[in-house]
Amino acid sequence: MSRRDPNSAKPLGPIPQGFEAIDGELAIGGRKVSDLVDEAGDTPLFVYSRDMLDARMAALRAAMPDRLAIHYAVKANPRPEVIAHMATLVDGFDLASGGELAILQGVGIGSDHISFAGPGKRPREIRAAIEAGVTLNCESETEAARALEIGRKLGIQPKLAVRVNPDFDMRGSGMKMGGGAKQFGLDAERVPALIRHLIENGADWRGLHIYTGSQTLEADAVIETQGHVLDLAARIAREVGQACPVLNLGGGFGIPYFAGNEPLDIDAVGAALGERFADLPEELADTEMAIELGRYLVGEAGVYLTRIVDRKESHGDLFLITDGGLHHQLAASGNFGAVVRRNYPLVIASKFDAQPVEIANVVGCLCTPLDRLADKAELPRAEIGDLVAVFCAGAYGATASPMHFLGQGPAIEMLV
Ligand SMILES: *Cc1c(COP(=O)(O)O)cnc(C)c1O
Repeated sequence: MSRRDPNSAKPLGPIPQGFEAIDGELAIGGRKVSDLVDEAGDTPLFVYSRDMLDARMAALRAAMPDRLAIHYAVKANPRPEVIAHMATLVDGFDLASGGELAILQGVGIGSDHISFAGPGKRPREIRAAIEAGVTLNCESETEAARALEIGRKLGIQPKLAVRVNPDFDMRGSGMKMGGGAKQFGLDAERVPALIRHLIENGADWRGLHIYTGSQTLEADAVIETQGHVLDLAARIAREVGQACPVLNLGGGFGIPYFAGNEPLDIDAVGAALGERFADLPEELADTEMAIELGRYLVGEAGVYLTRIVDRKESHGDLFLITDGGLHHQLAASGNFGAVVRRNYPLVIASKFDAQPVEIANVVGCLCTPLDRLADKAELPRAEIGDLVAVFCAGAYGATASPMHFLGQGPAIEMLV
């Protein structure tokens, strides 16, 4: 079997829009990757592009109803420079830990329009959030009781919303986070009683948080889910007997990672949401509406760059061995919740516009066969010293990977 036998090749994911070649090299934010690596001083390196973050937000704003606030889910990429830039673009932030709150405070972001969700918040995290004036999305009755007590001790009226575990999930989502038994939120039928309790005990009730899943590319599924979310929120508010002040509708907008994936049709989603907003029941008529997005805002704006340190053959297969790997790019290696390993978009960045001539496995430098960035990919001929780029690296890369595995340590990160 020849190395060019296309039958043995596996497709790579689609390269996100907006990247160009300069002198035959991949360029990010108008700069060649070799220059970026020179400036950083080493590989592996994550590069995040301001221009691409701006363009993504502009397109999203244009598609969504004006009334909809867009929040950034910090866990997708908590890099302080990225957060500081996102603060110029988004209407609010959603946090998933006290550590993320500390990062936001370090960047000097105020408390307005910040909410904190996630199971198992420790009392000190609850205290820090209440002191900072952040809205806590209560995930259980126990957590709500803790928040009330901590608020009383501090003499601060806590801002409390309730996270609902809805009785539906998001069709087509890569990760389901609602419907059935879940560690997230409170089962929908128990929510009205908790809200009444919060109000009776002097909390500032800040509405509902209904999150159903992540990484969906199907507009119909998002539209259907948002419809269910609006119905459920109205039903709960009616039962409580009060208008809902804020509704966090969730998010779950996906990005194309794999061959055959098509981008989410945000115009269709925005149009359907606009229609629903034009016809809301009384309980939601004045409600502040928000969505929270992570990977959709930052995922495609990031590239992971790693250098080829060896080129070798085994039983007729070619291996390009890089100085990076799953310790920075767990998801691209297929080990972050994937059922079947598929290739992320990946190129030989220093030969971005060259034609493919061989089939290669691009692997990392760890002592495990799981450490694979591309499996049987058709690529231009790459030599030792060439740079490899893995796309869709702006979300769940650096901080969702086991960077300390094998004593490797973190990659460099830069915003350009
Ligand atoms: C993870 C998470 C998000 C962000 O998910 P993305 O897929 O990155 O958009 C938003 N909200 C909650 C509650 C989450 O747990």
